[in-house]
Order: sequence, then structure tokens, then C-alpha cells
Amino acid sequence: MTTIASNLQAVRDAIAAAAAGAGRQANEISLLAVSKTFAPDALREAYRAGQTCFAESYVQEALDKIAALQDLPIAWHYIGPIQSNKTRTIAENFAWVHSVDRLKIAERLSEQRPAHLPALQVCLQVNISLEASKSGVAPNEVGALAHAIAKLPNLKLRGLMAVPAPSNDVTAQRLPFARLRRLRDQLNQQGLQLDTLSMGMSHDFAAAIAEGATMVRIGTAIFGDRIYQKA
Ligand SMILES: *Cc1c(COP(=O)(O)O)cnc(C)c1O
Repeated sequence: MTTIASNLQAVRDAIAAAAAGAGRQANEISLLAVSKTFAPDALREAYRAGQTCFAESYVQEALDKIAALQDLPIAWHYIGPIQSNKTRTIAENFAWVHSVDRLKIAERLSEQRPAHLPALQVCLQVNISLEASKSGVAPNEVGALAHAIAKLPNLKLRGLMAVPAPSNDVTAQRLPFARLRRLRDQLNQQGLQLDTLSMGMSHDFAAAIAEGATMVRIGTAIFGDRIYQKA
């Protein structure tokens, strides 16, 4: 087995263990491989080991990989910051976007989604730890934004996403994930139908699964440490 294949197996086993510990079925949780900074060959290796959903954070880098891997039936997820001038590219090339946090951006994605493609699957990014530097809609503004986005014709609002402030303590890690779950439950009580909680990364996915994550976004534990090129 290659390193990526064995890492993937270890992550799948850890997801299954976390699910079992929380009284959940492992198949309620989908694994999104976060492949930013890694070359197409690494994604190919993960694909050969059974991984079909990949997430990217930078538009141009993602486009290059989508082109290099167009022979594979990959579901591409966008999880990075969204600038207005990139919405068309995102709407044309991805199946999912997890990082929507403004109505203006959602409206552009809906307008620019090509008619021949199914609705763009969308999660709202919530600034769940209320960090000044973080992107994401404030928790008290999620309701208004979610109801507005749910009306857009070419988007399908699936749920909420968050990147909480890092913590090494599992009990502390669970608190923001629990807050995100309660926000999702409140929205569903108000008539929305959100089935997705996109939460949990390499260092905290067990805590996220304990609090109801349905999609975990994992990079380092699959591909190894990221090395960023100096600009
Ligand atoms: C990079 C990234 C991840 C993956 O993080 P790891 O710690 O490498 O698992 C998940 N979510 C988002 C939004 C990211 O930018």
C-alpha cells in the first residue's frame, strides 16, 4: 500500500471508531479529502484507494487539477475564500461550495451556475468561534442569510460549515461543533431542510463526529504536511 492509501485507511478506521463511540453509523459521515497544495498525482493515488470527493481552497490551483484529472469522475468541493470575480469559475467547475457567507456571493453563484449542471450544493460558513480574523457569517445572522439563500433557484442549500478556533482538548473542541449543530437544528425547526454539517479537520474530526458532523474535511492526515510555496 502507498502512504496515501494507508493514511486513507487509517482515517476511515478512525471515522468508524468515532462514529461507533457516538452511537452513529460510519456511513452517515462522508470523507472529503482536502487536497490543496498537493499535485494531481497525489489525488490520483487517493482516487485509486477509493476516494472520490476532493476539496480545494484556491480557485486557480483547483482549475489546474480539475483539468489534469478530468478522466476521473471526481466530485469537486470548494472550501476556500470566495472573491466576487471568481464566482463564475466556481459555479462552472464545482459540485459543492462550503464557504458561502454573503448573499451577494450566493446570488452570483446562482446566476452563473450553468443550466446544464444540477444545482450547486451549498453550505454556509459560520464564524462559530467569533474570531475577528475569520471568514464566515456571524451566528446571529445565519438565519436571515439561510432563508434568503434557500430561495435562490440554482443553489441547493445543504447545511452549515465551520472552522472553529483550534484546541487540543477534545471537550473544548466539542463546544463550537455543538453550537453549529444547534444552529442547524433551529433552522430546520424554522422550515429549512438542512442535512449537512461540514465540520471536523485532521486534528478534531472525532469531536466533530461526536457532535453530529455529516462531512469531515481532512487534508494533513491523508496527504501529509502541506508545504506552501513562497509567493
Ligand atoms: C485546509 C483545510 C482543511 C483541512 O485541514 P487539515 O488540518 O489538513 O485536515 C479543512 N477545512 C478547510 C476549510 C481548510 O481550509
